[in-house]
Amino acid sequence: MANHRVLGQLVPDAVSGHVALEIANTRAGWGGASPRDYLVSYDALAVWAGDVGLLTTTEVRRLRSNARADPRSAQQAVDAAVRLREAWYPIATSPWNDRPFDSQDLERLGAAVSAATEVSTLRAHPDGRVVLDGGSVATAGLRLPVHRAALAAYDVLASGDVAHVGQCAGHGCGWLFFDPSHRRHWCIMAICGNRAKARAFAQRRSGGVSDASRLHPTGR
Ligand SMILES: [Zn+2]
Repeated sequence: MANHRVLGQLVPDAVSGHVALEIANTRAGWGGASPRDYLVSYDALAVWAGDVGLLTTTEVRRLRSNARADPRSAQQAVDAAVRLREAWYPIATSPWNDRPFDSQDLERLGAAVSAATEVSTLRAHPDGRVVLDGGSVATAGLRLPVHRAALAAYDVLASGDVAHVGQCAGHGCGWLFFDPSHRRHWCIMAICGNRAKARAFAQRRSGGVSDASRLHPTGR
């Protein structure tokens, strides 16, 4: 859990190693008592999407300007992004938690993917694939970042990469990361890893036994 400022907006640090997982990390404190939401406005959504590479600099500028002219549609796009994230997070963490995908969450994600596909054209991707682009500012309007995030999530599912999605073991964190080696424990070792070590140390000193120290004797 860490953040920085871009164009005046607070955005979460992109530490997951996969753009599709960054949408999940726009909320911090999954499962905790005091979650923090970074998608607090259209500006925040657009700037975040630009920061993780879902939008170009020009798209961010044009969308922010368009959002100021149509605040109602802008808020609806933010709501759609949050709905996508709330459906995607339990799907992305299903293999990690050894549980089947929830059909309602898949349905919600499917609806977002369909909406994105409707306005998409095919584009050559730098990695050699040809992919759906989620539309443009002209065709997708303010929903463009939501479309791009939905297609990125679908890509993780279609490729089977969802089997390599890890969930931070940090107390009250829950951030996701792409971890093909299945050896990573923390979103950011210097934050969640060190906090867990400090908690374990405090519990040892008070005579308790730390779950974290048993489950995660090492980490990075
Ligand atoms: Zn963490």
